[in-house]
Amino acid sequence: MDLEKYGNLVYQRIRENFQTWSETDSVTEKDIYFFLQKIKGTAGAIGLTELMTIATKKLAKLDGDSEQLWSKKQWSAFLGPLMEMQSFHDKNNLSEIEKWTNKESMMKEFILIIDDDIVFIAYLKNILEAKGYSVIVAHNGKRGLELIYELQPAIVFLDIMLPDTDGFSILNNIESIKKDRTFITIISSFNERENKVRAYELGAMDFISKPIDKDILIAYVENRLAYRKELEYAVLMDELTQVYNRKFLESQLHTLTEEYKNNKDVFTVAVMDLDFFKQINDTHGHLIGDEVLKGFAQLVMDMKRSQDIFCRYGGEEFVLLMPNTTKEEAHPIIEKLRQLFEKKMFIGSGKFFRTTFSSGIMDINDEYTHEKKLFEAADKALYVAKEAGRNRIVLFNPTLETVKNKVKLRVIVVDDVNLIRQIIIRHFAELPKNDLIDIEVLAFDDGLKFLKADWFEPGYKYVILLDWMLPNMNGIDILKEIRKKYSSKDVIVSMLTGRTGEEYVLEAFRNGADDYILKPFQIGEVSARILNLAERIFTKG
Ligand code: GH3
Ligand code: MG
Ligand code: MG
Repeated sequence: MDLEKYGNLVYQRIRENFQTWSETDSVTEKDIYFFLQKIKGTAGAIGLTELMTIATKKLAKLDGDSEQLWSKKQWSAFLGPLMEMQSFHDKNNLSEIEKWTNKESMMKEFILIIDDDIVFIAYLKNILEAKGYSVIVAHNGKRGLELIYELQPAIVFLDIMLPDTDGFSILNNIESIKKDRTFITIISSFNERENKVRAYELGAMDFISKPIDKDILIAYVENRLAYRKELEYAVLMDELTQVYNRKFLESQLHTLTEEYKNNKDVFTVAVMDLDFFKQINDTHGHLIGDEVLKGFAQLVMDMKRSQDIFCRYGGEEFVLLMPNTTKEEAHPIIEKLRQLFEKKMFIGSGKFFRTTFSSGIMDINDEYTHEKKLFEAADKALYVAKEAGRNRIVLFNPTLETVKNKVKLRVIVVDDVNLIRQIIIRHFAELPKNDLIDIEVLAFDDGLKFLKADWFEPGYKYVILLDWMLPNMNGIDILKEIRKKYSSKDVIVSMLTGRTGEEYVLEAFRNGADDYILKPFQIGEVSARILNLAERIFTKG
């Protein structure tokens, strides 16, 4: 038997002990003393130093001869750190980790809750996460709207009464077409007739009254997701811009690649991405952002040659497939578009404004025949165009291959429990390499140390897992410090909190937290969620 198995046995003993004690009204101080003695001994012997340290510290506060009675409340408060470690260990039983990494692919769909009732959020989140869905929360309308555009969730559960606005105005602020992709469901206790009429008129998918029933909710989510999949399967056009969508693009790319293999018919892939598009949304609102997307698509449709196939790849990224064209021949055509687009006027907030796009171009050849490779080459050229200052076109050449354009992500865990830090570090170290994201993990046992460390480096994106209860400075104050300097565009903050800390979550959201994770957590779940979020929020396209 190896040390890991001994470790499991120790934790199992701790669990059983707590179980037995919970069934009685009180235990004597002596009992607690002997229990800790035993743990100290075994934990020390098999190298569970952290557990041993906790036991030692606690022992120093006890009298081994005392018959004094401790109530359940007293002993569980006193042994809190131990219970935290034990439940964390149970949830992360090492063999389980592998199982969960496979689950990542299942968790691609996001469910967004826009609500400010923390008890309800926690309830809903727990139910859905237990079913394997990735749930993210916005506690006000502004953040909710941003997340609808950034994450493109499958389902949005929207409350009517929100701190800064109401659910109806959110519905009003989303182009009706987007409601076909993202199902918006009102969940509210204001279930008057007029509210329902209004919600449906504004394009809500459903109206569910609070309180909700767990089984009905799960069945509802499964039903809607299945329906959404079916819809996606049938559709080849992007509703907003009325050009082909990504699915169609992929099928055409495949056809053209096959043709090249047979007849050597060269074609070009031009990837085009609007510059600083997020700023347009931020300055003028998402509806104006949508107008820009439509305007861009219209311009390309008017100017492109009839044989070229124009698609919206996603968000503000488009692709022009150009049959029988080399990249050198494609260049002047895209350049013409660039010049026309930079002159095009849009109106937002009562003023005229202009914007630009950048493009990466690659044509098929014997070395870049694989669809994915070809596309990645064009994407790399696009990345270089962006780095060089935007509003320009870059033709791919193999020397660009050395340019790294992965998102460099740093996951920082700030937690005073060593076991938690170790599990997170180990998990990310063992994760298979990802095409889009390079991950590094940093860990701090103390918030003050973290703030004092020079942790922010431009060029990196961050996900910070921030414990609530920390020595020296609590999580909320650390969060406030982070938000003084960095927004969610670069730094996502997720609070780690125990079940009893759920009431603080709203305060965390008010102070700029993006997410919260309940302890004890399952590391596989947490990492899938981090990667998923980072992919949507931080990667281009
Ligand atoms: P860059 O120049 O580096 O491309 O910066 P950017 O801001 O254009 O790029 P980024 O990929 O960071 O942001 C794209 C934004 O586009 C994020 C998302 O909020 C927004 N977006 C995605 N889809 C839509 C949409 O359908 N409508 C609107 N209005 N915005 C969208
Ligand atoms: Mg862009
Ligand atoms: Mg983009």
